[in-house]
Amino acid sequence: MEKNTLITGVAGFLGSSLAKDLLRKGLTVIGLDNLSTGKIQNLDSIMTHPNFFYFYADVCSPEIFEMKELVKTEEIYHLASPASPKFYQTTPFKTIEVNTLGTKNMLKLAKRNSAKIVYTSTSEVYGDPEVHPQNEQYSGSVKTWGPRACYDESKRLGEVFCFLYYTQHGVKVKVARLFNTYSFGLRNDDGRVISNFVTQAINNEDITVYGDGKQTRSFCYVSDTVNALQLMMEKEEANGEIINVGNPDEFSVLAIAKMIKKLANSSSNITFNPLPLDDPRKRRPNIDKAKRLLGWEPKVSLEEGLINTINAYRKNNNNG
Ligand code: NAD
Ligand code: UDP
Repeated sequence: MEKNTLITGVAGFLGSSLAKDLLRKGLTVIGLDNLSTGKIQNLDSIMTHPNFFYFYADVCSPEIFEMKELVKTEEIYHLASPASPKFYQTTPFKTIEVNTLGTKNMLKLAKRNSAKIVYTSTSEVYGDPEVHPQNEQYSGSVKTWGPRACYDESKRLGEVFCFLYYTQHGVKVKVARLFNTYSFGLRNDDGRVISNFVTQAINNEDITVYGDGKQTRSFCYVSDTVNALQLMMEKEEANGEIINVGNPDEFSVLAIAKMIKKLANSSSNITFNPLPLDDPRKRRPNIDKAKRLLGWEPKVSLEEGLINTINAYRKNNNNG
């Protein structure tokens, strides 16, 4: 097996987009996934690509270290982990395991291979933030006691493993704190807000705003996020750094519901439903560090990204 790039969580929303982009650029890509939230159909267009090799595998398993295909892995994008609250709360122990043991395994592999590794952490490490917008120095306002803790706290511990492998073993570790990313490719039943609202709007079903819809999020289009991940891998300046990756344009959830209804020319009603426990009230990245170290900032506006997303959902069903 020649030199290659590993993507864990390759059958997921982000992993499959990243794999397609890396293959377009001529890289050889090994993809691992246990299909817990990902779908093999996300890989349909690349499954027979001569430079793509998919393996059904759990990154928490010690068998990873026996895989001869990973002997020449030089770059690791570690994306494996459920990301939707609906899924990570259904399997909380597995969520903790993949973000801690799974991350440690990938760091061990990076050390063994002298490989570079990008770990996809999350804006959830900021919890329900008291600093706004959130910069990387902010240590967060996170709870151990609640339904989101299995994800938030295990992602934080994953960052600790990254810190230790960087400082104690000299592994070229880069931590991307991803803020909400969207596009077609999110399963219709993913449960995250954009897939829910777009699926509901194009079917003229009720658009289910949770709470009063005043809570905010900042949405980054998938191509922008995938570019940032590759720049993090490439740039020496990103070694040993935590970098926010997200779009700083902030919208309330109600504004997003209205925008999607309008762009989809939908007759849906907007309904108000109970707010999930511990739902963060606001979220917006400060991306000065990404601009400075990566020369990166997002290019796709929410409106443009939503139009693409709505059109693609209309053409393709993406049920799990
Ligand atoms: P996703 O659920 O679509 O994809 C995750 C993939 O990981 C799935 O294919 C799943 O089957 C796989 N997986 C889970 N556990 C595994 C295991 N033990 N072994 C092998 N594969 C496993 O989620 P996504 O939106 O593509 O997110 C990818 C990564 O980015 C996750 O780590 C997530 O925490 C992070 N992230 C995503 C967002 C976002 O908005 N999409 C925001 C913040 C962070
Ligand atoms: N949300 C909503 N309706 C939905 C799904 C989500 O109002 O059908 C809200 C949710 O309560 C949160 C925001 O949209 O305030 C983003 O939710 P998502 O699950 O996409 O991501 P996260 O909360 O992890 O940022």
